[in-house]
Amino acid sequence: MNIRSTRLPDGRYFLFYDFLEPHWTSVTGSNPSIEDSPRIGLDHSSELRWNPVLAEWVVTAVHRQDRTFLPSVAKCPFCLRTEEGGEIPGDYDVAVLANRFPSLQPNPGSPSIEESALYPVRPSQGVCEVILYSADHQRTLSQLPVEQIYKLVLVWTSRYSQLSSLEFVKYVFIFENKGEAIGVTLHHPHGQIYAYPFCPPRISAELMQSKLHHDKTRSM
Ligand SMILES: [Zn+2]
Repeated sequence: MNIRSTRLPDGRYFLFYDFLEPHWTSVTGSNPSIEDSPRIGLDHSSELRWNPVLAEWVVTAVHRQDRTFLPSVAKCPFCLRTEEGGEIPGDYDVAVLANRFPSLQPNPGSPSIEESALYPVRPSQGVCEVILYSADHQRTLSQLPVEQIYKLVLVWTSRYSQLSSLEFVKYVFIFENKGEAIGVTLHHPHGQIYAYPFCPPRISAELMQSKLHHDKTRSM
């Protein structure tokens, strides 16, 4: 697996993952620096707000209402760049790019509201990426060949490794929202990676329960 990186016209990074025979499971090439990423969008567009009742951080993102919504195939931003649309600068096997509408980013703007002793506020620092499973717009994950899914798992592993090494990242969440009912706005086969600056409460609770169970039984 060879990693090549480039920048999109708006400064976001774009990573090509090329799988070259015969050693396509070993990793060559390098990742771009995440810390150098330019800020996407306006200042004062999102922040972390502390919910003192539930004792948890809430990620707000007021700038995401203008997202591209279910475009035609010709205008799909995850297909190759053409006269009509598409953002992708070259053919790819598996690819990763910085999210165009991030809730969390490495160099976030300042919060839109003042904090108080009861309601602390923090910049929304983190990383939001999109991972493109295939250049074929019509496929879904379940329709991809097993070899392609294996490549995807290798890329997940690579992204997890880089993002979890960032000083400001406490939890990396790799996921796919599927179907319009849950808010998918683009049909091209893709998933997402969120690198959070805190461990989400549900994950913390699961880890705590796992530890309690292990301490009690000495088994997993
Ligand atoms: Zn597409």
